[in-house]
Amino acid sequence: MAKIQMTTPLVEMDGDEMTRVLWQIIKDELILPFVDLKTEYYDLGLKKRDETDDEITRQSAEATKKYGVAVKCATITPNAARVEEYSLKRMYPSPNGTIRAILDGTVFRAPILVKGIEPCVKNWKKPITIARHAYGDVYKASEMKIPGAGKVELVYTAADGHTESVLVHEFDGPGIVQGQHNLNGSIESFARSCFEYALGEKQDLWFATKDTISKQYDHSFKDIFQEIFDEEYKDKFDAAGIEYFYTLIDDAVARVMKSEGGFIWACKNYDGDVMSDMLSSAFGSLAMMTSVLVSPQGYFEYEAAHGTVQRHYYKHLKGEETSTNSVATIFAWSGAFRKRAQLDNLPELEKYADELERATIATIESGKMTGDLARITTMPNPTVLNSRDFILAIRDNMKIS
Ligand code: NAP
Ligand code: MG
Repeated sequence: MAKIQMTTPLVEMDGDEMTRVLWQIIKDELILPFVDLKTEYYDLGLKKRDETDDEITRQSAEATKKYGVAVKCATITPNAARVEEYSLKRMYPSPNGTIRAILDGTVFRAPILVKGIEPCVKNWKKPITIARHAYGDVYKASEMKIPGAGKVELVYTAADGHTESVLVHEFDGPGIVQGQHNLNGSIESFARSCFEYALGEKQDLWFATKDTISKQYDHSFKDIFQEIFDEEYKDKFDAAGIEYFYTLIDDAVARVMKSEGGFIWACKNYDGDVMSDMLSSAFGSLAMMTSVLVSPQGYFEYEAAHGTVQRHYYKHLKGEETSTNSVATIFAWSGAFRKRAQLDNLPELEKYADELERATIATIESGKMTGDLARITTMPNPTVLNSRDFILAIRDNMKIS
């Protein structure tokens, strides 16, 4: 069989631990037999990041700007324990944070629905897509421990030298302080990518912040969304028969629980981080969710939303069997291939991406799955496969002529 050809390389960002193990098996068993794979490879594994002083992470983001489409494996965000475990030169920032700061944009996360894995919220009938702002707020914050009594102020020094300040707090003992920022330009592109995505999917768009408490910061998000909607999107939404709806985050959370799904929920950076984990778990598993960063310039980075599954990796290192779910990582690859195929006009590659996803879902629906899904499936007597055998079962289901 002739392999499917590519014209432009994907930016391949390899990662850590169990997901790095899955990454290689997916390539060997599900990709290389079918596709004449072209990638520009960046090893974002922690060891390589340490060797390069994290330069490799920045280079991979720059390469994404050059080629347009990247696929990323989960990576360790070092904490104190990891600095010791890997004898790191320093505690590097989150690679996702670094990449998102360079590319800007919005992360769209949608659950992957399969028959036999029912959402625990019983009225959810359709997927809920989270649109997570990928720039700023607590992910780009400056923080300080305040050792004792004293005054903390926010000071803005304008380009012409004049200053404005506001009191944060008059401390009479030790405490903590944090300064966050965002950029109107980034919020505007966040808004536009959400409106565009909603139009593309023909689904309602919800947006929520804590504007009643945060009267300058969160309120600016609300105002910017509303202005752009009124000026650029209201007519298009009317024509498509869909709605834009803003509410307070508390109200949104309550409504989401009672909804039947089928809409896009735009979230500020932190809300999107937390809520996407809640949604994916409630829809089944952290590993049953797609995730793609869409930059305002039209760059795409596909990834799995879960971590490196450290606990399974340590079992793997001890030679014990693991049953780690590779679906989100497979869908990161299929999403990246589909986008590359669309940009380069490669119908064979697009068909392959569709088939990879179909075969993955069909494998689970036939009763063959990893342990995380077997624990929650409504199917009687599921077959629990180990990490490798699950991927091999998908390969057996692939129909590529
Ligand atoms: P995690 O890797 O997401 O795993 C947490 C737990 O969720 C696992 O122990 C496992 O539960 C379950 N789980 C997650 N993914 C699974 C999968 N594919 N198949 C089966 N079960 C799965 O989170 P973590 O252990 O908190 O973080 C580990 C490392 O990942 C950290 O160093 C963190 O910095 C990094 N991280 C990276 C990303 C990213 O790059 N996108 C995101 C989050 C975290 P059981 O143990 O009960 O089986
Ligand atoms: Mg998270």
